[in-house]
Amino acid sequence: MSYNSDNIFAKILKGEIPCQKIFENDYALAFHDKFPKAPVHALVITKGYYLNFHDFSQKASSEEIVAFNKAIKSVIQQLGLEEKGYRLISNCGEYGGQEVPHYHVHICSGKPLGPLLL
Ligand code: AMP
Repeated sequence: MSYNSDNIFAKILKGEIPCQKIFENDYALAFHDKFPKAPVHALVITKGYYLNFHDFSQKASSEEIVAFNKAIKSVIQQLGLEEKGYRLISNCGEYGGQEVPHYHVHICSGKPLGPLLL
């Protein structure tokens, strides 16, 4: 599967559809999930057009990889999640249950989240 810029997160990056923005820099954009699965549910997406974690880790520069991970940390700090904790999730491909084919990391928190998988 190759990257297709018709996906909803690419449209958010292009400003074609709105988002509830939390954080933005040259490498990442973070916003609240439209259909939250936890009391706190943020998404951090790459500004570069990558399909998923696998694609990102193969093609992105070291600078992008470091900056993206630092952006996730900034969002965690901005949301005040450090003390109580949080869960990072990145779904990849069919078996990972990925719905939107643009690399992103979910940050979920706000209550004890229970087991990793149902
Ligand atoms: P994934 O299954 O990992 O691809 O997750 C995609 C996530 O995007 C889901 O949690 C959706 O609720 C969320 N989502 C879909 N459309 C939007 C949107 N327009 N704005 C914010 N989040 C969205």
